[in-house]
Amino acid sequence: MVNCKEIFELISDLIDEEIEIEEELHREFLEHISECPHCGPFLNTFKKTVNLCRRIENIRVPEEVHISFWRSIRVEIYKKKK
Ligand SMILES: [Zn+2]
Repeated sequence: MVNCKEIFELISDLIDEEIEIEEELHREFLEHISECPHCGPFLNTFKKTVNLCRRIENIRVPEEVHISFWRSIRVEIYKKKK
């Protein structure tokens, strides 16, 4: 099981550099943020910031991979909440 610290480390890794996420880790990541009262809201804020920056700057974002990753996470969270 992943804990909050690992989630935050994973997120900072994703921001800093491109990393590949193992399927199992990705699944645990999704499970954690859908249940955790700390990581869920944090991730939402983070994603909003990323999307906002992208819109305002209107530049080609190298983190495009990351953004699509966050998008897929959001979809997964919504699925779980329903
Ligand atoms: Zn957490």
